[in-house]
Amino acid sequence: MKKPFVTKEKIQEIVKEIPTPFNIYDEKGIRENARAVNEAFSWNKGFKEYFAVKALPNPFILKILGEEGCGLDCASQVELALADACGFKKDDIMFSSNDTPAEEFRYADELGVIVNLDDFTHIDFYEKSVGHFPKKMCCRYNPGGTYEISNGIMDNPGDSKYGMTKDQIMEAYKILRDKGVEELGIHAFLVSNTVTNDYYPALAKDLFELLVEIKEKTGIALSFVNLSGGVGIPYKPDQTANDIAVIGQGVRKAYEEVLVPAGLGEVAIFTEMGRFMTGPYGGLVTEAIHEKHIYKEYIGVDACAVDLMRPAVYGSYHHITVLGKENAPATETYDVTGSLCENCDKFAIDRQLPKIEMGDYLFIHDTGAHGYSMGYNYNGKLKSAEVLLKEDGSYKLIRKPETIQNYLATFEGMGIVDDLLK
Ligand SMILES: *Cc1c(COP(=O)(O)O)cnc(C)c1O
Repeated sequence: MKKPFVTKEKIQEIVKEIPTPFNIYDEKGIRENARAVNEAFSWNKGFKEYFAVKALPNPFILKILGEEGCGLDCASQVELALADACGFKKDDIMFSSNDTPAEEFRYADELGVIVNLDDFTHIDFYEKSVGHFPKKMCCRYNPGGTYEISNGIMDNPGDSKYGMTKDQIMEAYKILRDKGVEELGIHAFLVSNTVTNDYYPALAKDLFELLVEIKEKTGIALSFVNLSGGVGIPYKPDQTANDIAVIGQGVRKAYEEVLVPAGLGEVAIFTEMGRFMTGPYGGLVTEAIHEKHIYKEYIGVDACAVDLMRPAVYGSYHHITVLGKENAPATETYDVTGSLCENCDKFAIDRQLPKIEMGDYLFIHDTGAHGYSMGYNYNGKLKSAEVLLKEDGSYKLIRKPETIQNYLATFEGMGIVDDLLK
């Protein structure tokens, strides 16, 4: 059974100051999980988790992860600026972008972060944009075809826009070496949200074998392997959570079987997890404000897809707990909807839930990654607040809700809506 990390009583206290809807994050859960990740890979001297900023780009959360020894993975100039402002420097930041504008490469160079080249043509583009190469760089690999692991979980790298082919990446390393890059690494992100302990070990083994081949064919010994993201979480109550300690040992086994005998036992392991780091430690809190009885039973809440898009755009399942009714029998079948003028704006369809009264608070689980951050302003809906539930049980507003002034700021001074902005 999935249990919220916060009680109805605590929410009743918070809503006196911060009205619903809001996302709330569990500092204790985030810290404990980050420690478990670092522990799982402590066998590797150079290990570092670079948290994927896009999953939860809130500076308070980024700082917490920094305190736990994590770096950041950025994909845009704004994410880089945010990382810099939060005190992350140089090797603490990976820049894993794609279709990258020249000014973003220049900005990454100014900050001195580790740049991950998505494409072979980016070598030339980088040189033209920046004028020189850094001492340390990464290349993104795409093996093509389909990628399948033992339990059948797979994806289609051959259809994905990311990374270089094997021939291209071999050539890229030779060129970069000749351009004076001293430390080179490889990065691959092949499957998203894997709920299995087998993905990282399988990916690691494939990449380690490629490292051996690169060494044999080019004489280049790569210095780091970035396993990127893709370690998933159990959104559904019947799924079993990944065990990061088992995953760490699986990667270690591949390391000892493939890299160590090939004389490559100094390679550092990097990860770029987003979802696994914060996903389960966020919840969207929303109040039931309408019930509607037509061909189906609807519960209308005060949050909408702007606060959490995954169900609308991916049809994703997010578990829902009616706070205070954790143990009540699920006697009703509801569609739980938001207010957008889009029929896909439903947090749940045909969901078995306890009887919901108007004024009940719903806790929508697992919104700590790719939740708030994916939101938009469709229908003129303003983005809601973010709240941190601290380790000592107190709470803190860590992002204010948007106002109409924020929404209209880009029209300011155009003589159209200036009255509204006063
Ligand atoms: C999105 C992304 C991640 C994080 O993915 P998760 O599914 O959250 O683990 C890591 N690296 C890159 C390059 C990404 O685009």
